[in-house]
Amino acid sequence: MEEARRIQALPPYLFARIDEKIAEAKAKGVDVISLGIGDPDLPTPEHIIDKLVKAARNPVNHRYPSYVGMLEFRQAVAEWYKRRSNIMLDPKKEVVSLIGSKEGIAHIAFCYLNPGDIALIPDPGYPVYGVGISLAGGVPYAMPLKEENGFLPELDRIPEEIAHKAKLMFLNYPNNPTGAIADESFYSKVVAFAKKYDIIVCHDGPYSEIAFKGYKPLSFLEVPGAKDVGIEFHSMSKTYNMTGWRIGWAAGNARVIEALGRIKSNIDTGIFQAIQEAAIEGLLGNQDIIGENRKIYLERQDIVIEGLTELGWTVERPKATIYVWPKVPKGFTSASFCELVLDKTGVVLTPGNSYGESGEGYFRISLTTNTERLREALQRLQDNFGKFEF
Ligand SMILES: *Cc1c(COP(=O)(O)O)cnc(C)c1O
Repeated sequence: MEEARRIQALPPYLFARIDEKIAEAKAKGVDVISLGIGDPDLPTPEHIIDKLVKAARNPVNHRYPSYVGMLEFRQAVAEWYKRRSNIMLDPKKEVVSLIGSKEGIAHIAFCYLNPGDIALIPDPGYPVYGVGISLAGGVPYAMPLKEENGFLPELDRIPEEIAHKAKLMFLNYPNNPTGAIADESFYSKVVAFAKKYDIIVCHDGPYSEIAFKGYKPLSFLEVPGAKDVGIEFHSMSKTYNMTGWRIGWAAGNARVIEALGRIKSNIDTGIFQAIQEAAIEGLLGNQDIIGENRKIYLERQDIVIEGLTELGWTVERPKATIYVWPKVPKGFTSASFCELVLDKTGVVLTPGNSYGESGEGYFRISLTTNTERLREALQRLQDNFGKFEF
């Protein structure tokens, strides 16, 4: 039963490993507070669930769905972009449904990479970019995201030779794990770079609706020329508290969307139509959930920032996302700090280096825990450590 080389090199998914550690601590009787995985704890809105229940009773939906997604779902995605940002998309050619955006992010590499081809990824970054590339036989090339550059990659630092060989570039703003944002001038440089080197841009934007104090993140597709060079991955997961439902999409360049749809049609058979119906309701129905989520995450962000400040940190307050990305205190690595905190307090933090080398020296706090437990977590830190030095 010797595994293929491509999977021998594959570690268990990041959070699968962290889950193991949590299970160990729980088995020892520790009251664990996980500030680890970015999985909204808030429920899916009622009107979306009602729609699912109704659609699940319709036998039409019990058969194989369409491979590329129901046209009505793709139309809803197009309409959602139009309402949000006045972006025009052809639902037939420029949108494809995905079984969560993670699925499409992994599969896009198979569409464009031959063995040895390079794809550019943000470091730190969502682990699936690099894994998809490697499984497809490609070679990920890390673009460091540094605090002094606002966690944006420095495109002019990418060696000419690498840029010429690169076929794909993954970007993600508002960013997981750093909470950083990107503006139009950055995206314009990305478009120019992609044109110059013939690179397909894969922008991953699941946090576009989780922004604070009036800040409205740009969709990559709003940037002039974006559709010539790439696509945007998006999903119901974070915006509508629907991570468990597994439905997302890619939108943008018609050729890229067609290629992604073609590979998918040969591997999966789409998404349960009742879920697509519910997602349509989510995209086009009452949008109150977006404002409610923003309010809740902002309140949690306040608790975390205030708590960390009392513990000696100076942390920047992210304008978007459900994360805070502080530096580890003096004398620690990401791993040693997170381990010590778990051992002493039962609080789970995600070590920054698990998102890539450039994440070393940081850790991630996810705001997907209620205010009471968040306060408790910070209290435990204070009780055990008092103040940290930096
Ligand atoms: C949560 C997340 C996703 C995945 O979302 P799904 O649609 O649930 O697969 C993709 N990219 C980033 C950066 C995320 O944080």
